[in-house]
Amino acid sequence: MFPIIIMMPVHEKLSQNIKTIRDEIRSACVRAGRNESSVSLVAVTKYAEWSWVQELRPLHQTFGENRPQQLADRQTILPDAEWHLIGQLQQNKVRLALQHATLIHSVDSLKLLERIEKTAASINRDAHVLLQVNASGETTKSGFTPEEIINEWPAVMAICARTHVNGLMTMAAESENAEHARPTFRKLRQLRDQLAAREDSKKAGIQLPELSMGMSGDFIPAIEEGATLVRIGSRLFHGLEPT
Ligand SMILES: *Cc1c(COP(=O)(O)O)cnc(C)c1O
Repeated sequence: MFPIIIMMPVHEKLSQNIKTIRDEIRSACVRAGRNESSVSLVAVTKYAEWSWVQELRPLHQTFGENRPQQLADRQTILPDAEWHLIGQLQQNKVRLALQHATLIHSVDSLKLLERIEKTAASINRDAHVLLQVNASGETTKSGFTPEEIINEWPAVMAICARTHVNGLMTMAAESENAEHARPTFRKLRQLRDQLAAREDSKKAGIQLPELSMGMSGDFIPAIEEGATLVRIGSRLFHGLEPT
């Protein structure tokens, strides 16, 4: 006799996972005294099989991909979903990214920002971006350091015409304990507040409403510290068997 293992169908598992995550997001908002509509879930599909993405689509609107090519391929098939680029962007993929992504979370240098501005102008579109900040201080992480972003802020504003800087993004150091990420998230929010409060930002009409921070392991403290976009992958697809 073999034991009978009943696998939960993909659709059911995904519905269950996304419901649990949304419930946790809602509870974190309540605890933080925030409106739940102020936090958006970006479903990170970089490791998800295509069939899972298709199953998820009726349940969700906003997706995040790491690689511009995979984002472009998937956006082409599901053009009505919103696709965000969250991974590192090479100069030669900027056009592809702008054609397929509604938001680029990972602008990590002035050089890249310049390239985005030039490309956006040349294809006659607006670009919406977040500036990635290395707020954890780890040498392995890319992004502007907090000092750089403050010093280079006038240069950022000088570059942007067709490019709209909607906010900041960060990744916390990996840790078993989500609480360890909290200071990194708090730092990002303080940096945003500081930049948004500047006279030159106000004059330019720059408000920086978005804070993209928090992943599967640390989205709760991120929301408590002000995240407006949480990027969640592994928790969403937990328990699904790759084919
Ligand atoms: C993969 C990835 C995520 C999602 O990470 P999980 O731990 O799987 O939720 C979020 N942000 C970025 C930039 C990523 O590369």
